[in-house]
Amino acid sequence: MQVIDSIEALRAVRAELQGSVGVVPTMGALHAGHLSLVQAARAENDHVIVTIFINPLQFAPGEDFERYPRDLAGDLRLLEESGADVIFTPTPALMYPQGFQTAVNVEGVVTQGLESAIRAGHFQGVTTVVAKLFNLTQPTRAYFGQKDAQQVVVLRRMVHDLNFPLSIIVCPIMREADGLALSSRNVYLDAAQRQQALVLSQGLKAAADLYAAGERDPEALRQAVQTQVDSAPLGVVDYIAINHPGTLESVTGPTDAPLLISLAVRFGATRLLDNALLPAHLNQQDGLTEVLGAVR
Ligand code: AMP
Repeated sequence: MQVIDSIEALRAVRAELQGSVGVVPTMGALHAGHLSLVQAARAENDHVIVTIFINPLQFAPGEDFERYPRDLAGDLRLLEESGADVIFTPTPALMYPQGFQTAVNVEGVVTQGLESAIRAGHFQGVTTVVAKLFNLTQPTRAYFGQKDAQQVVVLRRMVHDLNFPLSIIVCPIMREADGLALSSRNVYLDAAQRQQALVLSQGLKAAADLYAAGERDPEALRQAVQTQVDSAPLGVVDYIAINHPGTLESVTGPTDAPLLISLAVRFGATRLLDNALLPAHLNQQDGLTEVLGAVR
């Protein structure tokens, strides 16, 4: 495994790689969710590049950029075990040297609601850094988690619109045994918050159960999530939303088309995200990649 922290070295190593390349962009503080992306990339490509970069552009002022968890030594140990070949660990100064003045921005509905409504400028930071990482690593396939469903939709749009010659693969949400979606930010939760954070996955489960029983009214499905979340006094809801996956347009009436049900809930200063596709059988790699990532 090669750990690289310069652009020249990355380009030189990439130029030597024959065959397919899978890239897994991360911000580090790796957990089993990240590693599931590495495993998928390992299974489907000749070479695997993992990037670790806490991207200042995607944090708004007042967000947790400074205190975002960092554990490079631990990350490298996990990646070695996962069979990653190349790890790219640039600094902000390397990615955004003095004079850097370019942004990649996806416009329209996909960057208007959900996370965008709360995190101004977030997706422009994401698309700008991911465009750079794609240019540097030139992957055959890029692996992202369903956990950040809107991010996938935005990136898929960017890849399509700017003709990046690669496929985006979407991997399912990895969870703790009790259902909490794995997140680098879970370490911020105290014991009471951690316990009550279960309402996110429980709310999604309640909606999925209703859906399986035949309910198609988006408001009834949304309410099922809301009822669970309301049972956690420490949780403050940013949104609970039902959207068409792919376009992220709001769903206004009953439909048999696939749905994305997503929510963000704050526990103290920690924002937790979770989501699910309905019907539930879509929540595996093929279904996610097809439905969530599809450009429409
Ligand atoms: P991050 O380091 O938070 O930027 O995440 C890097 C990648 O890992 C993103 O594509 C995330 O969607 C993905 N990811 C984060 N949490 C999970 C999870 N619990 N299961 C699967 N993938 C995840």
